[in-house]
Amino acid sequence: MNLKYEKKDIYSNLTDDELQNADKLADEYIEFVDKSKTEYLCIENAIEILKKNGFKNIEEVNKLQKSMKVYFVNKEKSLYAAVIGKDKLVNGVNMVGAHVDCPRLDLKPMPLYEKNNAALLKTQFYGGIKKYQWMSIPLAMYGVIYDKDGNKINIRVGDTSDTLCFTIADLLPHLSYDQMKLKANDFIDPEKMSILIGSNKDIEEKDSKNKTVKNNILKILNKKYNITEIDFARSEISFVPAFSAKYVGFDKSMIGAYGQDDRVCAYTTLKAITEIDSKKLNKTSIALLVDKEEIGSFGNTSMSSLTFDMFMNKLLKLTGEDADLLEVYYNSKMLSADVSTCVDPVHDEVSDIQNGNMLGCGIALEKYTGSGGKYNASDANAKYVSEVMQIFEKNNVFFQLGTLGKIGKGGGGTIAYILAQKGVDVIDCGTPVLAMHSPFEVTSKYDVYMTYRAYKVFFEN
Ligand code: MN
Ligand code: MN
Repeated sequence: MNLKYEKKDIYSNLTDDELQNADKLADEYIEFVDKSKTEYLCIENAIEILKKNGFKNIEEVNKLQKSMKVYFVNKEKSLYAAVIGKDKLVNGVNMVGAHVDCPRLDLKPMPLYEKNNAALLKTQFYGGIKKYQWMSIPLAMYGVIYDKDGNKINIRVGDTSDTLCFTIADLLPHLSYDQMKLKANDFIDPEKMSILIGSNKDIEEKDSKNKTVKNNILKILNKKYNITEIDFARSEISFVPAFSAKYVGFDKSMIGAYGQDDRVCAYTTLKAITEIDSKKLNKTSIALLVDKEEIGSFGNTSMSSLTFDMFMNKLLKLTGEDADLLEVYYNSKMLSADVSTCVDPVHDEVSDIQNGNMLGCGIALEKYTGSGGKYNASDANAKYVSEVMQIFEKNNVFFQLGTLGKIGKGGGGTIAYILAQKGVDVIDCGTPVLAMHSPFEVTSKYDVYMTYRAYKVFFEN
C-alpha cells in the first residue's frame, strides 16, 4: 500500500483514446476562445452551443419536467443554463459557475482626441493588469453601441481576419531614461494608455480649421457605423489583443490565448452541461456564466446580482415545486469554476511548491483563496472537500491540491464567497494558468481536458 501522496502528470498516464479526446477538445476550445474575446461574444457563442444541444430559452417554456434543458440570458452578458433532474430542487442542485469577463482596455465615455498629428482614444483598464504588457502589441476593437434610437451596432474590427489593427505605441528605450527609473507600478501612466487610430487629415474640408485628423476619423466612423462623437457615450467598446489562440511548444502540449481566465472554465462548463445524460440525471444541474468577476463581482450581470435568485425562483415555479429558495441553496453543491495559477517554471520563488499546481497535472482544487490570514476567503469545509475528492477519485479525474502562492506574496478571489453567502457548499476548482491576466495566457491542454471531465462528473453525481 502506497501511503504517500504523489502528484501524477496526465500525459504519461492517460490511455491513447483519452489523449485523442484531449486533442479534440483542445481544438474546439481554441476555436471558441478565439471568437469569444468579449463577454458579449462569449455569451452569444454559448447560446448557440446550448441551442444546438436542445436547450430552450426559459422565457418560451411554461412548464418544466425532468430532463428538460433551459437557459436564461441576463442582459446579454451573463447566462444560467439548467438541466432538470429527477430529484426535487429543495434537495439541492449541482452548480458549476465560471466568469466570462477578462482584463482588457475599455474606452472612456468621451475617448476621442487629436494630438501631434495623431488621433487617439482614451482608455481605462478593466481588471488587474500589468500595464506594460499591453503596450506596443496589436489590439482589436470589439463592442456594442446603442445609437440614439436604441439600435444595437456590433463593433468587430482589427482582429486577425482584418488587414488593420490598433496599438498603444510605447515610448522608445532611447528616450526612456527617466521612465525606466520609475517603479513598474508607475512607469506606465494609465492616462497615457491611448490607442492610436489614425493620422490622416480630413483633406475634403474647405475650412482649414476643420482639416483635422479627428474630423477625418469621425467621418470614417460615421460612414462605417452611422454614428457621431456623442455615441461613444452609449457604447461599451473594449480593446483586446489582436492575435489568435495557438498551441504552444514543439510538442503542442500547451495552449496560448487571450482570455483563458476564465473562458477556459466557461467553455468546459458549457461542454460538460451539454453532454449530461439528461434521462439519468438525479440532481438538477446548473451552469453559470457570469460577468464582472474581474472587478469584484459588482453590477447586475455579476454573480452578486439577485437576478440569479430570480432564475432559481423561475425554476421552482415552472417545476411546480413549493419550496423556500434559501433551503434549495442550503442543500446545493457548487464548483466555483475559476482558473488557478501554475507554479511558474522560472519564478517558482513565489510558490509553495508542495502546495502549488504543476502544469499538466490536473485541475486545481483550492480549499481557499483570499490572502494573508485567509482574508476574504470562502474556506470550504472538510466534509465538502472530501465529497468532491471522492467524486474525482472514483472517476479518474486528475486533480491537484493547490494554493495560489506563498503567503504574503499576493492573493486573489473568485465568485465562491457569493454562493457561500447563500448557504451553498462551494469550492474553487479550475484550470491552472501561466501568465494569468497577460495578453497571452498559457494552459496545458491536458489540464483543460481534466477540467471538462471534472465538471461533467460533478454534474452527474
Ligand atoms: Mn478568474
Ligand atoms: Mn482573473
